[in-house]
Amino acid sequence: MLIRKTIKYKLIPNAHQKEKLFIFLRQYSFVYNGYLKFNQHYHQKNGRNMTSKEMFLLIPKLKVKFNELEGFPSKLFESSIIHLNHELRILDDGDELRQKREHNDTFIVTTAFKFEQDRSRISIPTLRDIKYHNSKIIEGVVKNLAIQEKNGDWFVHVFYEYEKKKINVTAEKFIGIDVGLKEFAILSNGKSITNPRYYRKLEGKLIEEQRKLSRKKRHSKNWEKQRKKVQDIHQNIVNYRMNFLHKISTFIVTHFDVIGIEKLSIQSMVKNRKFSKSILDAGWALFIKMLKYKALEQSKIVIEVERFYPSSQLCSKCGSKQFMPLHLRTFICKSCNHEIDRDYNASKNIENRTRELFKKRA
Ligand SMILES: [Zn+2]
Repeated sequence: MLIRKTIKYKLIPNAHQKEKLFIFLRQYSFVYNGYLKFNQHYHQKNGRNMTSKEMFLLIPKLKVKFNELEGFPSKLFESSIIHLNHELRILDDGDELRQKREHNDTFIVTTAFKFEQDRSRISIPTLRDIKYHNSKIIEGVVKNLAIQEKNGDWFVHVFYEYEKKKINVTAEKFIGIDVGLKEFAILSNGKSITNPRYYRKLEGKLIEEQRKLSRKKRHSKNWEKQRKKVQDIHQNIVNYRMNFLHKISTFIVTHFDVIGIEKLSIQSMVKNRKFSKSILDAGWALFIKMLKYKALEQSKIVIEVERFYPSSQLCSKCGSKQFMPLHLRTFICKSCNHEIDRDYNASKNIENRTRELFKKRA
């Protein structure tokens, strides 16, 4: 069954983007209302509405005729026509529509847009990388964006669809993932995902070049040069991290049906585990985001285990609980003598808990 949904996010445009959004909104309404009037005349004469094809044919002429349309991207032009046609089909009543459009605060982008959840940015024709407040991950395929202005604030309404499928869960295809101290993550099947070594090297280089930068005279030629160098390394690291996270999240979603993770607060993780110095840490939150939306695309499930679930203090074999100070790398159960690597044990507990939670929701 196909399900359609809309979600609204607040946009965080910079000054230049804001200005352009205002211009686009004005131009969009100009086109929309202009065609609406056209169509009314056309309807009186011909007894039917114009087709979108007929409307498209007028675009070059209108662009020459009206100064107001200078710089208006063709793709937005098309979007406004598609939008109008859609509403004409539903209502078949131009007058009613015109009333509705008088205070126009929204334009719809039906084509040539990008919705990037990893980066919390949208792009529309000729206007790239508008940040948005990424408050919720979307689970499906994005169809349209509607961009709305309200008292100087901007919002995007995202229209998306998803297929509601029954998920076929086999016993083997559960996995629990624990955040590693040394590793990026430990899986409950005994495998671990290592932080790429190349990445560490880049990180070291970044620190070194930053130190050099701090010794140079601000705004001098050498300083500018060095700053560019630092920026390049930084960009490199960002790209590299993205790549790495995409690879492992795709791997996990492809190979497992029900994926259990710890619900982490990054802040407390940084405080408690003292590994905030690494830029990789920021990757964990992004990794979870990627897992979630990729899982939905493939009809898999991500289950977040409660934040205070004692995954490192339980025996994954018999379930008894004991205190586990951070320096102990091996879990040795006082009840059943089970001996197991600390992180591996934690990931197995996460898997066990995931199975329980899955049963509850099924
Ligand atoms: Zn035990």
